[in-house]
Amino acid sequence: MDCREIIKLISDYIDRELEQVKREILEEHVKVCERCKTILNTTEKTIFLSKKIYKNKKVPRKIEKVLFYQIRIRYKK
Ligand SMILES: [Zn+2]
Repeated sequence: MDCREIIKLISDYIDRELEQVKREILEEHVKVCERCKTILNTTEKTIFLSKKIYKNKKVPRKIEKVLFYQIRIRYKK
């Protein structure tokens, strides 16, 4: 699996909605890929902060989409 596919999985990974197999692939990938590791960490932090702001477990899907869109844009550059 290449970086682009990994990035797509990050959202579900953070939401704990990723199936076991894919989760393992992602975890293995970030061990060896500094770029994806950074993206994962940044995304986790952002989601965590958003959750604090929204004070509920789930960040509105809309907000999440915007976040990941921005991350992907950044990644493409
Ligand atoms: Zn990668």
